Parts: sequence; structure tokens; C-alpha cells
Amino acid sequence: MTTFVLATANPHKAEEMRAVLSPLGVDLLDRPEDVADVDETGATLEENALLKARALVETTGWPAIADDTGLFVDALDGRPGVRSARYAGEAASYDDNVTKLLNELEGVAEPRTARFITVIAVAFPDGTAFCVEGELDGLITHARAGDQGFGYDPVFVPHDADGRTLAQLSPPEKNDLSHRGRALRALSVELAQR
Ligand code: IMP
Repeated sequence: MTTFVLATANPHKAEEMRAVLSPLGVDLLDRPEDVADVDETGATLEENALLKARALVETTGWPAIADDTGLFVDALDGRPGVRSARYAGEAASYDDNVTKLLNELEGVAEPRTARFITVIAVAFPDGTAFCVEGELDGLITHARAGDQGFGYDPVFVPHDADGRTLAQLSPPEKNDLSHRGRALRALSVELAQR
């Protein structure tokens, strides 16, 4: 059994990771409560995911898994991108960020194409590391729809679904096609080969 410690403090993400990785015999430890958050100062998702994973290896001595996600909107030159969590300000709520996004896209010609990208970084005590990625392409709507999920889900319609926003999909439907689900499956393929 391989053991990793998780950088995420989000129980939903941890549960999703366990569901995909447990069948491989991978044991995931929760981040110890006394480990502080890492400043996400990287210019890319990959840099931030590696920063988080490496910091956790340093403080715990265990191999570590960290993820970072961003929404990249074509008409906004890739914004909010790495700043997706703090788009409307340092203390912005999910709702503040969605409102800012819809305001910035007012008057932008269709189709309002965008993609979610998740990078998962794995770092080891011997200093080695690798990253995997998952992507979900879709469109930004003009108004919110649905009350499931979180973040930008109410205004994102995946190309691969049936016109519903991510917030109108059940959790298993979202996991099947989401950026994070895809990155996790890429991670399970990579770990199975090691
Ligand atoms: P994180 O790196 O997973 O914390 O994601 C950064 C930000 O991206 C979050 O604060 C959300 O606003 C947004 N985000 C990440 N994953 C999702 C998702 O699956 N749906 C909608 N928004 C997301």
C-alpha cells in the first residue's frame, strides 16, 4: 500500500480522491491540522500545485498530493485563470466571483468559450515530482442555473453534457466528466504504472 498525504483541506475533494485512488491500494492521509496554508504565489496552476505538494513533503516527510484548478475564459485572455479563487478580491465569495465574471463578459460575442483545468502534483521525499492534468471545455452562460457543486459551476455549460450547467448535474455526473475527475483518472493511471 502506498501512502500519500493530501494538501487539500476540502473534505469533498479528499473523498473524491479516495474514491478513485483506494482501488489502487493507495492510502490518503488528511493534511495534519497544524500544517499552515501555503501562499499560492506561482504564475501557473502547475507551479502552485508543486509549491503545495513540496511544502507538505517538507513538513510531514510523506509523499504528498496537491491540486490546483482554474477557469480560463477565452474572451478574457484566460482570466480568471490561476486567480480563480480570488478573482473579485482576496476575500471574494463564490458568488462575488461569478458576478464579476458575468459583468466582465457583458456584451462579449457568442460563443463565450472557456475551460476548467486541474493540475495535480505529486511530490516525494527524494525530491522528485510529477504533474497530471485534466481539462473540461464549455461555455459561460448569461445567468446562473442550478444549485449543486460550487464556484463557477452555475454559469458553466460543458460541451460534453446536454446543455445543463455543472451546477445542474448530480455529483456522480459531474465527477464523470469534470476536469478534476479527469486529472484524478490520469493520476491513477500514472500511479498504477509506477
Ligand atoms: P482550487 O484550486 O480547487 O481551490 O480552485 C480555485 C477556484 O476555482 C475555486 O475557488 C473555484 O472558484 C474554482 N473552481 C475550482 N474547481 C471548480 C469546479 O469544479 N467548479 C467550479 N469552480 C471551480
